[in-house]
This record gives sequence, structure tokens and C-alpha cells, in this order.
Amino acid sequence: MDWSTIIEKIVTSNDIFRLTNEETLVLYDSAPLHQLMDAAHHRRKLHNPSTKVTYLVDRNINYTNVCTINCQFCSFYRPPGHDETYTQTYDEIRQRIVELENIGGSRILMQGGVNPALDIDWYIGLIKELRIHHPSIDLDCFSPIELEGIAEVTDSTTLEVLIRFKEAGMHGLPGGGAEMLVEKVRTDVSPKKGHPDNWLRVMEEAQTLGLTTSATNVIGFGETNSNRIEHLDRIRQQQERVLSQGHIGFTSFIAWPVQLETNTFGKRNRGSNRFELGAGASEYLRHVAISRLFLDNVPHIQASWPTMGMGVAQMALLGGADDAGSTMMEENVVSASGTTKFSASEQELQTSIIRSGFSPQRRNSDYIHLETPDTTISLPDVMCSPPNQVVELV
Ligand code: SF4
Repeated sequence: MDWSTIIEKIVTSNDIFRLTNEETLVLYDSAPLHQLMDAAHHRRKLHNPSTKVTYLVDRNINYTNVCTINCQFCSFYRPPGHDETYTQTYDEIRQRIVELENIGGSRILMQGGVNPALDIDWYIGLIKELRIHHPSIDLDCFSPIELEGIAEVTDSTTLEVLIRFKEAGMHGLPGGGAEMLVEKVRTDVSPKKGHPDNWLRVMEEAQTLGLTTSATNVIGFGETNSNRIEHLDRIRQQQERVLSQGHIGFTSFIAWPVQLETNTFGKRNRGSNRFELGAGASEYLRHVAISRLFLDNVPHIQASWPTMGMGVAQMALLGGADDAGSTMMEENVVSASGTTKFSASEQELQTSIIRSGFSPQRRNSDYIHLETPDTTISLPDVMCSPPNQVVELV
């Protein structure tokens, strides 16, 4: 089996036929990037035939940085008792949502550390207050590891916690915390998160309750291409099962490279010969294309501008991605590890989409299209790519 035969089969077919793990590995290892991106774009048009690229006006809220999990790639958390810990009050969180409402946003993505000082009543009180005062904002809150922490403190199961949160008004979960769903890699970089099955189990519980979910993937821990395909395969298999039960499953998939600058993982490997750590633009674009080709049952692939820069994200839109992510307004977890830019105006996103050859379309968390204002009046003045982001296509 050679890569050119597989590519030819993809680009000459109007069916979204399933690629095997073996075929995908051949493509990952051997296909030239431009042909991978062409094939992924062909598939993108079969999944999403429109020339629209969607985006979301939302805000991240990182409500607490107290965490007991100590992931090696994380520069955001502080252990309990550290003098730099914080936990936002209900009023502080609400103030952030008011700012989002003022720019017409539709969703908050709220996640933080695993903070043992917060019990389930604190969370339920928060969700109820936000639901009452901000009814138009979708509340996508708490990644699987936070839910596991809340369940542990409460002496209940994650399913029971999810049921109570849904009753209080929670809309969905952020996709964070999946990183690399391969036991060997997870044990190395995030041993306290436990087995990859935990993340998948919590997500499946949420999906069966009708909560909105997405899937994420962090690359660049020194894993192999087979490991990356194993991660994608875990998601594809779960999606298959959940869809067959009549649920919506993961709405989208987004990957980004681990940020190495200021965390234990980066320091631990600095000066080593582990040249394969992290991922540059070409490696990232390769992974986006592979994910579009492999994940035949996940409707949307997002480009990650916060970690790659807007220029690379624009290229991802030409190689499998159909969504430009969101404005974010504020993000503290990934950016704490050294990314250069962590918020974009709606104008920047729209301009970047237009310059990639697509038309911008506002959406909500469920990918329902919303009315889209034209913010591109002063288009030439908009900076589309941070100056320190270099597009390296090799
Ligand atoms: S990534 Fe999340 S779970 Fe891991 S240490 Fe950071 S805040 Fe805690």
C-alpha cells in the first residue's frame, strides 16, 4: 500500500469512506503535506459543502487556578496553599459574562483546576445564578477531570454530578483534558489524570444526557504517529457507539501542540535530544489534515489560532478545518505556557477567514448559524498574524 494510491482514492471519491488505521499511518508517515491538505480539503467539502467558515463569539473563564493534578505541561495551576492561588467569586464571573454580552457573545467556556475546596453546592449555586442572570449565554463548563474531582469531593459519581449540573442549567462541557489518549503518554506527562478511559467515560456520560461536547488533542509530547492515530481512533470508536444510540456525540475536534516554554515538561526536556517535542506549522497542518481524513464521523474540525497564530490557522482552513474557533476574550491555561496571543476580535477572525477565501459565519456552541455582522469595514488595518509566527511549509 503506498500513499499515492490512498490519496488518489480519496480525491476521486464523493463518498466519505472509512480509512483504516494502517492506511492513515501510511499517509501520516509518507504523503507530502500539500497532497494531504488537498485530500483533507476535498473531504472537508464533502462534510461541509458550504464556503462558509464558522466561528464563535465567546469567552473563556478560568474560575480557579487551584489544582491538585500537577500536569507537567501546565503553567497555569497552583497547588492548594500557594500564595498565587485564586478563585473567582460569583460576582467576578458574572462581570466577565456581562462583558461578553456587551459584544454579542453566546457562550462561555468555563474551566479551571481541580480545587478540593469547592464542593458541589458551590458549582450548582454558580450555574443556577448564571442561568438566571444570563439566559442567552450557553454555559459550557468543567472538563472531565474537574468533574471527577467534584465527584470525589462529593462522594458521588460523575454521572450523578452531570445530571445535577444539567438540571441547574449547564449546556455542555469544554473538550479540554484529553491531551493524548494513549496510556503510556498520559502516564508520563499527567499521571494523576489516570487512564484515558476516564476522559472518554465522562464525555460519553455527558453525551448520553444531551450535553454538548467537543474533542481535543494535544500533540508534541514525543509520541509516535501511531500514538496520534490511536488517540483519533479512541474518539472515532466512541463517536460511532454514541451516534448509533441516537445521541449527537462530539460536535468537533481541535488539536494543538503542547506549549513548552514555561512548564515542567518544557524545562525537563530542555537541552535534551528530544528534538521531536512540540510541533511546528507543517507538523500541525499535517495533523489537522490527518484528523479530517480519519474522523469521518465528527462533523467539524477547528483550526487553532491561539497556539499557531492566525496565519497558520488560515492555512489549516485550506487543509481540512472548517471552523476558526472563537474569540475567547480571555484564556489563561494554554497561554500561561508561552503562547503569544490569546484573544482575537471578531473583526480579526472575520478578516482572516475572508483572506483565506471563505465567508465568515457566526455560530453558537451547537454549530447553529447565527446572524453575522459585517465587521470588516477597515479590513487593510487588521493584523492577521502575529509578527513572531512564521509559516514554515516544508
Ligand atoms: S492542565 Fe488542568 S488538571 Fe492539569 S494541572 Fe493544569 S489545571 Fe490542573
